[in-house]
Amino acid sequence: MAATGLTRVQGASSEVVRGINRSIVLNLIRTRQPISRADLARASGLQRSTISLIAEELIKEHWVLEGPTGRLPRGRRPTFLRLNEDRVIIGIDIRPSQITLAVGNVNGKFTSQEVIPTPVSPKAAVEALIQRIQPVMRSCRDKKIEGIGITLPGRTRAGSLVFAPNLKWPESDIRTPLAKATGLEVEMDNAANACVLAAVWFDHVETCRNLVAVTVSEGVGAGILIDGQLVRGAHGMAGEFGHVPLDPDGPPCGCGSRGCWEVYASNRAALRYYHGAKSRAGELSFSDLLSLAEQGDECAAKALETMAHYLGRGMRMIVAGLAPERILIIGDLTRCWHRFGPVIEAEAQAQVLRGGCPPQLTPIYEGGMARLRGAIALVLERHFGAVREAAA
Ligand SMILES: [Zn+2]
Repeated sequence: MAATGLTRVQGASSEVVRGINRSIVLNLIRTRQPISRADLARASGLQRSTISLIAEELIKEHWVLEGPTGRLPRGRRPTFLRLNEDRVIIGIDIRPSQITLAVGNVNGKFTSQEVIPTPVSPKAAVEALIQRIQPVMRSCRDKKIEGIGITLPGRTRAGSLVFAPNLKWPESDIRTPLAKATGLEVEMDNAANACVLAAVWFDHVETCRNLVAVTVSEGVGAGILIDGQLVRGAHGMAGEFGHVPLDPDGPPCGCGSRGCWEVYASNRAALRYYHGAKSRAGELSFSDLLSLAEQGDECAAKALETMAHYLGRGMRMIVAGLAPERILIIGDLTRCWHRFGPVIEAEAQAQVLRGGCPPQLTPIYEGGMARLRGAIALVLERHFGAVREAAA
């Protein structure tokens, strides 16, 4: 990554070069921390003096901390650099049924978290969020809040939510009122796009330049990384595989169409399969359904298996169209990956075209925090430009 960035800036202004070098050094500290200046110079190919200057600047800006002193053979005692965990981000994950608000640091560790039911309108949601963000800001007085990152179950354009069929909010500007009320910068994006950034940021998947993140909850979304670059498409609408109709006579979808992939492969689909099979199923959450399957309820297991089949089958669109090396699956279903993962894998990897290669499927669960890590990554990406850098 570093070499690519450096070789392509020949002839650029010294300010641009400085910015790129800084980004390279920050990314190396992020991925290899704790790391000494000497190792930074070796890994980046930059002069030791350049590393020292950038390191001093980053320490002065409180992005990076120095110490502890290392103990290496032959008497060398270098000082290690690492990211400053007192730089925190407010992460917000908005879903149709609930909103989670958490404080996370630059390394993706969360210190606090609260969940509220999703208000019926964007205006009410903004008001509810401001009410909760203010005490969070007061509790973080001894830290530096870098901004607010928001993940959404839909597509955004210029701070506005423009397509969110499961949320049922009208097109609205969420960013401006939140930024005004808090004085913080607000970054927002589709949850699957944010999960792609989180994979690059926290999981260091730089070697995998073609990956797709599939979020599976009330709907099914996809975020696409091609040649190391996040693909947003015209009007930011790329990745809506969930709304490709598989059967025009199928059940109605929130987008107004019928028989879309997500109608068969989302959490809601599994609940529908279960309720269809049991006449008196009562009120059930997806988490309840998973627990029932774990406890040996055959009907629940069958419903989840059907969902897994459709999930994997729909992924063939992604495999044929984008040829990713890896597909990340983010959602509650991954809690039971040992049971339903093989079903998804078998379907997704069936009928790989001659000359193609089946993608590696990676479940991401982390106790439901994967989307919040995405929210944190949205803000960090602005500073570190990991994806932009990889694609430079
Ligand atoms: Zn649809």
